[in-house]
Amino acid sequence: MRLDQIAALAQGSDTKVLLIVLDGLGGLPRESDGMTELEAADTPNLDELARGGTCGLHHPVALGITPGSGPGHLALFGYDPLVYETGRGVLEALGIEFPLESQDIAVRANFCTLDSEGCISDRRAGRISTEAAAPLSEMLDEIRIEGAECFVRHLKEHRFVLVLRPDAATGAEVGDTDPGRTGVAPLIVRPRNEHSETTARLLDTWLKVARERLADQSGANMALLRGVSGLPDWPRFDHVFGMRAVAVAADPMYRGVGRLLGMDAVTVSDGVENLVSEYRRTFKAFDFSFLHFKAPDKAGEDGDFDRKVAVIEEVDEIIPQLVDMGPAVTLVTGDHSTPSMLKSHSWHPVPFLIHGGSARMDDTTRFGETACRNGVHGLIRGCELMRLAAARAGRLAKFGA
Ligand code: ZN
Repeated sequence: MRLDQIAALAQGSDTKVLLIVLDGLGGLPRESDGMTELEAADTPNLDELARGGTCGLHHPVALGITPGSGPGHLALFGYDPLVYETGRGVLEALGIEFPLESQDIAVRANFCTLDSEGCISDRRAGRISTEAAAPLSEMLDEIRIEGAECFVRHLKEHRFVLVLRPDAATGAEVGDTDPGRTGVAPLIVRPRNEHSETTARLLDTWLKVARERLADQSGANMALLRGVSGLPDWPRFDHVFGMRAVAVAADPMYRGVGRLLGMDAVTVSDGVENLVSEYRRTFKAFDFSFLHFKAPDKAGEDGDFDRKVAVIEEVDEIIPQLVDMGPAVTLVTGDHSTPSMLKSHSWHPVPFLIHGGSARMDDTTRFGETACRNGVHGLIRGCELMRLAAARAGRLAKFGA
């Protein structure tokens, strides 16, 4: 279903929708007892919501496809990530509130280390500290090249954002220079179409100057570029679903995804209690609230089953406080699976529960992968969830006469 078709059905209401995202929620069973992280976790409150609500599994992008967090979230917001594709550069830039203009090209960059032969010996410059890397970013921010204004803003540790503001509009279809492995030279900047040749040339020029400037610095001697992207012109979330929306997240990229869709964004410190206080503070002003919790994904990527269990339990503890504030519909899920046994994102479908509003019930009594498989919704696409939540909240009118 197209977003303009949904927008035509969206109707005003005073109901509120709450989306709680446990990043990387889905897992795989451990050998000892066949339970996933979510199933091993003691989650009486989520189980209660599953009992009183309905469950299912969703695949964020497409069956068999491992999603990045950006597309995973776009899907949860109702945007088909196969249609609405954007690079990480734009998401990171928006996440730190960089005022992107329509022609800007944003790039996510990493400091790295090259050996004497110009091959990459460390793709993250030994995970250089923020204290050591931020001055390097400031130095790179001084770079001036012909044909574009350049901005560098430091993120965390080895990561920064590079924004080019070209003199004339140019394409953003340019490949990464990060080959994804060590022992080889960085890839050359390669345009994927004619319209992006200028961008590739500007980035190449910038990289040459950056390498000269970094040559006599300690900590890192080069940068790798990824996720080259321009600002897309997409329908705003509030225009599609008729809901004023807010994204509450500690990590910049998730606020970036929200901003890309015209949501307000609120920065919180890590920790579930901060999500509760921000939800309380912003509850009245917004119809749709998205609360992002990164910890399950981090634990999964570290291969730490027990820690993933523990952080899921932390979220479970705040569930009553969130639901008691009175959203008509609460949706709890993840943006993809991050099984700790794989130490990475994976393609496995993600469990979800929807609580509140009108629905035919299922007999799910637990929130977990196995239980959700038997839920009434079955296996659906992630981008269908938002429609389901809006319908449950009475916010979608009849289609056709
Ligand atoms: Zn994620």
